[in-house]
Amino acid sequence: MLNAFARILPQRSTVFRLSITGLLTTLALPALGQDTTTSAPTDTFGECKARLQDRAMAAGVSQETTRSVMADVEYLDRVIELDRRQPEFTTTFADYLGRRVNEDRIDKGRMLLEQHNELLDRVTAETGVPAPYLVAFWGLETNFGSYFGKMSVPSALTTLACDPRRSSFFTEQLIAALRIIDDGDIPAKQMEGSWAGAMGHVQFMPTVFLKHAVDADGDGKRDLWHSLPDAMMSAGKFLESMGWNPDYRWGREVLLPKKFDYALADGRRLPLSKWRQLGITDAFGKALADEPIEASLVVPAGHQGPAFLAYHNFKVIMGWNRSEFYAIAVGHLADRVAGAGGLQNPPPEDVPALSRAAILDLQRSLNQRGFDSGKPDGIIGSGTRSAIRKYQSASGLVADGYPGQTVLDKLGITTDR
Ligand code: CA
Repeated sequence: MLNAFARILPQRSTVFRLSITGLLTTLALPALGQDTTTSAPTDTFGECKARLQDRAMAAGVSQETTRSVMADVEYLDRVIELDRRQPEFTTTFADYLGRRVNEDRIDKGRMLLEQHNELLDRVTAETGVPAPYLVAFWGLETNFGSYFGKMSVPSALTTLACDPRRSSFFTEQLIAALRIIDDGDIPAKQMEGSWAGAMGHVQFMPTVFLKHAVDADGDGKRDLWHSLPDAMMSAGKFLESMGWNPDYRWGREVLLPKKFDYALADGRRLPLSKWRQLGITDAFGKALADEPIEASLVVPAGHQGPAFLAYHNFKVIMGWNRSEFYAIAVGHLADRVAGAGGLQNPPPEDVPALSRAAILDLQRSLNQRGFDSGKPDGIIGSGTRSAIRKYQSASGLVADGYPGQTVLDKLGITTDR
């Protein structure tokens, strides 16, 4: 979860994901230094804890809560290990989507949609967010509440706040966590979550929790771990606060005409009527509805995979987690839970996952041939996509800016290292 609510760190595996669409990491992280130490000397950690304790009390958290919680806080090596983990390979869209939107999850989502329809309808009535989306977020964040993360949130956040890399961000999260405990929403010992401090059914970071979580079951506590009404209403409130538009969907799968300028899939927003003029239809070849809205075009797996028009709510979903793959997965899972079928153009499965080294080779190779991809950095961004498009055009290939096997073969890029 991130950005729109103030640089929130996404949970778990989304943190360092490089995505081939270039949408990649959710936070601009400083480069890793040479120091790979994972244990802080206890005195240093002790001093850091004391400093944080003072900061929390100065920010208005009670002395009693601050002292008792911080007394139990431990340094967690595992948190730093997970924070510094960098995947060797990028995740392909097919792999990403397949892991998150599959038959098991769709079936379970449909069952839960029915089982909790009364609650979900209530959330929709209050926030404008339709039930299938609430179920989709729930499914993507914790597989419908089956895994919340088992880290002590106060310990994890203190460990990260005492690490120099993003100290101020995690200090803010720690103080918010202490405030939540101080407010009596959850006892410190039960405040468990992901290594980065995301909590409960929908994995709220503490600052988001403080601002958007609500008590929907009337027991006086905002309990996002044990109360589904609290968790679902809080998710709805959060989406509402980011500007969810109840009148429209997230976007939809579309079909592109044979000759299409893929450079248009660069995030620009155009009126739906303009996309119609360019020959785009819905996924079944029918004319797009004549709605007075804007959309951007997303082509996450190259011209052989699906294309989507992303409406306003797509941006709202990306306020929760700033990844295009994530937003498509939420939208598609919501559609499937609501009864829709699979994608008309599923993403090709045999696309190579690229390592950072392979992407560097690709970038150098494009530069050598005069297709400027910028300074090689091992990340596929807009510069690399544009260089690939130019290379594809010059080579008589479909210029989708996507590093598919044909492009890699022609450039002599080895993908297995
Ligand atoms: Ca409650």
